[in-house]
This record gives sequence, structure tokens and C-alpha cells, in this order.
Amino acid sequence: MTDLSPSSSPTPDRLPRRVRHELRFRKLEVRAVQRVAPHLIRITLGGEELAGFTSPGFDDHAKIFFPDAKTGALTVPTVGPDGPSWPEGPKPTMRDYTPRRHDAAAGTLELDFALHEAGPATRWAEEAKVGDRLGVGGPRGSFIVPTDFDWHLLVGDETALPAIWRRLAELPAGARAVVLAEIDGAADEIPFETRASLDLRWVHRGDGEPGIGSGLLDALRKLSLPAGDFHAWVACKSVAAKALRAHLVGERGANPKWVRASGYWRRGAVATHDTYED
Ligand SMILES: Cc1cc2nc3c(=O)[nH]c(=O)nc-3n(C[C@H](O)[C@H](O)[C@H](O)COP(=O)(O)OP(=O)(O)OC[C@H]3O[C@@H](n4cnc5c(N)ncnc54)[C@H](O)[C@@H]3O)c2cc1C
Repeated sequence: MTDLSPSSSPTPDRLPRRVRHELRFRKLEVRAVQRVAPHLIRITLGGEELAGFTSPGFDDHAKIFFPDAKTGALTVPTVGPDGPSWPEGPKPTMRDYTPRRHDAAAGTLELDFALHEAGPATRWAEEAKVGDRLGVGGPRGSFIVPTDFDWHLLVGDETALPAIWRRLAELPAGARAVVLAEIDGAADEIPFETRASLDLRWVHRGDGEPGIGSGLLDALRKLSLPAGDFHAWVACKSVAAKALRAHLVGERGANPKWVRASGYWRRGAVATHDTYED
């Protein structure tokens, strides 16, 4: 396999589409807690307020509101004619998470929490039990990426696994995907289900600390890319996402309009979301 720039044939309209949704805030209840891997906890949420939930984009995100660690009180905004407003009192801790799987018939919503050293979301997931409550805002919009590329590149760390899982699940038979996923070690590898032809490369961080090394970029540099037009999706620590995008566009001939790179977290900062787009 050789590196090739996007093919010279006329490109069909493969531009992603943005879709907006009515903004809603929900109080949901934990229905199940599953330790999927040493550093990944799956929380299944349910409840009457889940009705009407929608998440058509594989990298959608919801704003998650955590109960007060001392009192257990859960506060979410209400939506009025002038938009969202908060009740009196302190605002809760909020973080972004990907709706990994929504099953409208079963009335369930799954979120996967990647566990790291410290942080209120990580702590909450580690202690979560059936009956606990969690607030969910949005998704307020979705980014719909067409699937008819010659192939798809998905690159990310643990925080990107739910979106990668969704993308692989939605790709049709005949599609081709290359995945680079950085995790601690072999025990953190999770299974994916896909009809696409999948070239999956796990990048083991080993003893390296998350956020320090450049495992994904090193692995991508060594990767021989298939020929043809491709869409690249990247999500991981912010500085790495930026570097991966620059490498793809600058050195691998990726069409900048078909590279979506996001910083899902930053070392030493809380609750960040950076988007690197054309
Ligand atoms: C659009 C979007 C979707 C996301 N989807 C998911 C998802 O589905 N699952 C998921 O697990 N995460 C997801 N994330 C990332 C998650 O929101 C952050 O990791 C968040 O900061 C975790 O909150 P916390 O309270 O545990 O840590 P924080 O209080 O935010 O951070 C505490 C410290 O931990 C560090 N830190 C934060 N995250 C990580 C990490 N992953 N690894 C190592 N150190 C970290 C920070 O640098 C900070 O110093 C998503 C982020 C975005 C922007």
C-alpha cells in the first residue's frame, strides 16, 4: 500500500451536514453499571425523561450534569422561551460525554466513562450504582458525515472509543475503515461490531502517562494509508489532535474538509472541547 493524495477524479458532494435538535435537559437514573475494561465503565441510564432523546451523529456529545458530591442534589437547567436558565443555587459539575448507544425501544442510554487519575466525572463513574441519578443535556446538534468515502480513518484515545464504536457500527457493508486507538494496554482493548472491512490497530501506552507521549502520532506516521478519498476523524487529548490533523493535511494529502479533529481533554485543564477544522 502506498500513500496517495485524494484521487483526482471529480469528488461527489461528501461534505458533512449539521443538524440542530431541540435543546432538552433530562434527569435520568442509573439502570446498570458495567466494568467493560480496567479503565472503562459503562453506565446504562433510563427513566421517563429519556423519551424523545435523539442522537443521529456518531460523535454527538451530551452535557452531563453530576449530582452534588455531598448532598446528592441534582440540578439541571430548564428551557423557557428565552432559552435555558438555571435555578437559584450553585451550578453542578458538567462534562461532555458521547451517547454510545441509545435504544429507544428499551428506553436506555449508554455512556462509557474512560477512567483516569482524578476528576469528578471519573470519581462519579467509579462509585456509581443502580438508582443513582445523572443529568443529561442535549445533544443540541449533530454532525452527519457521509459514509461513501473510499475508506475511513478513525483515530483516538479511550475518550473516543464510544464515537469510534458508533461509527464502526453504522458503516455499511463494503466500507473500509482503519482505526488507531490508544489505550493503556491489552486488557483495555474492547470489541467492535461492524459490517465494514476493519483494520484495527491498538496503540498501547504501556507505562507512559496519558497526555505525555505521542503514541498516536508515532503510529500514524508509520501507517501506510490505503489509496483513495478518505474521511479522517480524530479525538483525543487536544495537543495530539491538533498534531494529528496537521500531519494528515500537511504530510498525507488529506483533504482538510474531510478531516475532523477534536481535543476531548487537555492536560491540567478541566472540561475542554477544542475543534480543529478547516
Ligand atoms: C465532545 C466530547 C465528547 C467526549 N466523550 C467522552 C466519552 O464518551 N467518554 C469519556 O470517557 N470521555 C469523553 N470525553 C472526555 C471527557 O469529557 C474528559 O476527559 C473530562 O475532562 C473528564 O472529566 P473528569 O471530571 O473525569 O476530569 P476533569 O476534572 O475534567 O480533569 C481532571 C484532570 O484530569 C485530566 N484528564 C481529563 N480527562 C483525561 C483523560 N481522558 N485522560 C487523562 N487525563 C485526563 C485533566 O487534564 C485534568 O488535569 C469527551 C469530551 C468531549 C469534548
